[in-house]
Amino acid sequence: MKSGFVNIFGKPNAGKSTLLNALIGEKLAIVSPKVQTTRHRIKAFLTKKNEYQIIFSDTPGIIEPKYKLHEKMMSAVKSALEDTDVALLMIDIRDNWNECDELFSSLRLKVPCIVLLNKMDSVKKETVVEAEKYFQTKDYCKKTIALSALTQKNFDELINAIVDLLPNGFPFYDEGELTDLPTKFFVSEMIREKIYELFGDEIPYHTTVLVNEFKEKTTLVKIQADIIVQRETQKAILLGSGGQMIKKIGMQARQEIEQFLEQKIFLELFVKVRPKWRDNEAQLKEYGYND
Ligand code: GDP
Ligand code: MG
Repeated sequence: MKSGFVNIFGKPNAGKSTLLNALIGEKLAIVSPKVQTTRHRIKAFLTKKNEYQIIFSDTPGIIEPKYKLHEKMMSAVKSALEDTDVALLMIDIRDNWNECDELFSSLRLKVPCIVLLNKMDSVKKETVVEAEKYFQTKDYCKKTIALSALTQKNFDELINAIVDLLPNGFPFYDEGELTDLPTKFFVSEMIREKIYELFGDEIPYHTTVLVNEFKEKTTLVKIQADIIVQRETQKAILLGSGGQMIKKIGMQARQEIEQFLEQKIFLELFVKVRPKWRDNEAQLKEYGYND
């Protein structure tokens, strides 16, 4: 039996969350075309009885820290670097290869790395071949795999390559488990995802979601969550005129959460203003951004 930790690194939008969700077959990591959607580390397990257990971790995209929230995100990336058996370095194959190379080199990884050339569905075959040639010469690159997280192409090849590099060992988690994070976390992520989907560029970056109540009753689950913003003007936008936007968020989030929990829920949302929460150490902690 083989088991170990595998982390997925790469610039925002490379497709890390999409890959993780597709591999595990559940929507664990929120996916969005906007950058920096993933703020936490998410662990997810892929187990094949008597063969392997791969513990995947999705990381926030690699970025330059611009404010405290970013610093937290980078330290999540670094902590991921230190406890991994195999690193998956993912690029969007349409991205600038030199920039990606500089980024990967700067991480100074000592673990075996597989370079994933993602979104192969969006380029010509020749581009894939060229990219493979380009990355195969790099010191950190043990192997390249071109794939599509979206269409799930070349997943078998990826899993085989990972299992080859994993150490022998027993599974860390039960076969039936998919993740180590509490349900509450996924609920807040799903609400956050709806905010990403419904609003323009600005709002989501000033927003976080805190689930205050998660009570399982006989026929449904009662959930109360706060949407935290930095300014009154943002609160007004989230509420919308006559409260139509918050209603929309609530409706869409409820559908998604019910699908995830396979249970009826009652969802209550409040919008609260907490000036500069992104720069406040105590508040970041309260909202779950600790390392
Ligand atoms: P992350 O920031 O690295 O976690 O990236 P996401 O998983 O959130 O994906 C960013 C965007 O790229 C989303 O719009 C995805 O649908 C899209 N995407 C991810 N993988 C693929 C792929 O293989 N092909 C194409 N065409 N798009 C993809
Ligand atoms: Mg992500």
